[in-house]
Amino acid sequence: MNLFSLTRRKTFARGVHPASHKSTAGTPIRRMPFAPRILLPLAQHIGKPAVPIVSVGQEVVRGQPIARADGFLSVPLHAPVDGVVEAIELRPSARGPWTETIVIRTFEASTQEVRWSEPRDMDALSAREILQAIQDTGMVGLGGAAFPSHAKLSVPEDKPIHTLVVNGCECEPYLTCDHRLMLERSADLMRGIGYAMRAVGARQAVIGIEDNKPDAIASLAAMVPEGGQIRVVAVKTKYPQGAEKMLVKAALGLKVPAGGLPADVGAVVNNVGTLAMLGSLLPQGQGMTERVVTVTGPGIKRPGDYWVPLGTPMRTVLDWAGAESVSEREIILGGPMMGQAVASLDVPVTKGVSGILVFDQRKIQEEEARKRYPCIKCGECVKACPMGLNPSMLGMLAGAREYDLMGTDYHLGDCFECGCCTYVCPSNIPLVQQFRVAKAILRERAQAIHEALAAEQAAAQAELAQVMEHLPIDDESHLTGQRFDFGHAEGEGRKLGGSRHKINPHPTDKP
Ligand code: SF4
Ligand code: SF4
Repeated sequence: MNLFSLTRRKTFARGVHPASHKSTAGTPIRRMPFAPRILLPLAQHIGKPAVPIVSVGQEVVRGQPIARADGFLSVPLHAPVDGVVEAIELRPSARGPWTETIVIRTFEASTQEVRWSEPRDMDALSAREILQAIQDTGMVGLGGAAFPSHAKLSVPEDKPIHTLVVNGCECEPYLTCDHRLMLERSADLMRGIGYAMRAVGARQAVIGIEDNKPDAIASLAAMVPEGGQIRVVAVKTKYPQGAEKMLVKAALGLKVPAGGLPADVGAVVNNVGTLAMLGSLLPQGQGMTERVVTVTGPGIKRPGDYWVPLGTPMRTVLDWAGAESVSEREIILGGPMMGQAVASLDVPVTKGVSGILVFDQRKIQEEEARKRYPCIKCGECVKACPMGLNPSMLGMLAGAREYDLMGTDYHLGDCFECGCCTYVCPSNIPLVQQFRVAKAILRERAQAIHEALAAEQAAAQAELAQVMEHLPIDDESHLTGQRFDFGHAEGEGRKLGGSRHKINPHPTDKP
């Protein structure tokens, strides 16, 4: 083990240093009991929702597949409890819209035993088979993005991967679930790293851990196999050190191009939690039924990291952790920098929920009372932006609703909504919130243009079909392979590669 790599503080340019508030890091992960009802939305990941393969009234056992993946960018769902399918119906989701959800009534005798598994010999699998096995687990990125893991590891053939970068930074304040998993599930993590390396064909893995977790650094450094294929690198504690591009820069010294992916520089990034789960689930042939969630914040009486069965209602988690009388307004899903407000306490814990933060009324009132001032051009946001953007200018353009300009000239697409600009702004301008709105508007506009083009194309095809129908059947053009397009004045066409001529819409009339 190269001790020098543990003491150097590698990092990226800019970023911020928020207070860490990681008071739960020293407490082992505890288990949360099963809720009487489990709510499993079919869309818990980026991509197409899963398709139910159970029916109402059917009994299921813990670990049993209950919904299948719908294509490549999709993952299956597995029952987290023994129980009976009570309904498949629309239920509220964390972001607000109602989504199709499988509701399971938990049997009182349900235990932790996973009663559905198909153990497999991982050593015998090819890279393609490992990817299929990963999809079968239903695993998604547990860092919060919920992107299907097999899709992330399916890199194009023209982008050879030399390094698997393992993200153990957990740079968001308050969150400690990854930290605890590195300490408690290190053997699973090492196995998962091995599987992922084989899946992408990487010859080495680098585990990047922020230097505020010396116990995790020491624990994993003691476990890396001989031969130097896997290294542990201590990176500077700085937000957003755990963002993919920042970590690749810090751990490998490689700059991912603007608009590109780590695969463009030969790297793939995976979160420690995801790999630890894969290291456990893959050889046992089991699906994902639970995840570790940090439940903390000033409004929680029993803060900690908990194994929470997927589908457990938020209200049940909060009751268990000692926050019985909170409202939606006090809760953030994820970390405070990038987390999202929750629309209702009746939504369940899903695969992408890494943290539930509960703030007390006083803190909320303080935040709401912060007065907003005009931009004073101090440049603090520019100094903080890890992507080298100009948040001040983007903010002014957002105020003027110049969304297109934000995208074309000021690279809004490169903003990954880390919130550093908002954090440092002395005028309390909600920059990142403005950028989210601008991006949503640009996405809607792009979708509208796409739909208009598709409609135009369909109309042109219909028109073409109509004209072709009226062409004389003894017209030799179809025998000689000549084709026409009708993108010109009505009734006028052009032979591809030939001269213009009139198409007679009434073939019985001679031109
Ligand atoms: S939210 Fe976007 S603009 Fe603001 S600092 Fe982060 S990347 Fe830069
Ligand atoms: S930090 Fe705030 S006040 Fe300063 S330049 Fe940026 S937007 Fe303006």
